[in-house]
Amino acid sequence: MKISAADTAFSKCIREANGYTCEMCGKDGRMECSHVYSRRHRTIRWCKDNAKSLCNGCHRKWHESPVAAFKWFEGKYGSGRVELLIEQMNNRNKVSKLEEKDIAKHYREQLRILEGKRADGETGYIDFLSWQ
Ligand SMILES: [Zn+2]
Repeated sequence: MKISAADTAFSKCIREANGYTCEMCGKDGRMECSHVYSRRHRTIRWCKDNAKSLCNGCHRKWHESPVAAFKWFEGKYGSGRVELLIEQMNNRNKVSKLEEKDIAKHYREQLRILEGKRADGETGYIDFLSWQ
């Protein structure tokens, strides 16, 4: 699946918001943006609640053991978050290529805000505005 400018900006926001820390094991360093429901679901592809900052090992575990992974996810964020994601995933409003450009711009702006807060010394998770 091709990675778009919107994907890149979104991924950076997810990782920066979490301070380059793994949401599963707490390790910090190089992180990956992992989707709960895969990127082929364009109605939630750029939704903050559909992505996690994970280290490479936990990202692999996530895909190798999806049942255990979802159990962990529901335990941490509540089953309501999963229900909302499914509802939004089935939303029939398609995301156009044109909207994708706006999404990229939105997350580049959000990233600048996050990086500014980080530079000012904010630690831990920093919230940001989700497009979807
Ligand atoms: Zn991890």
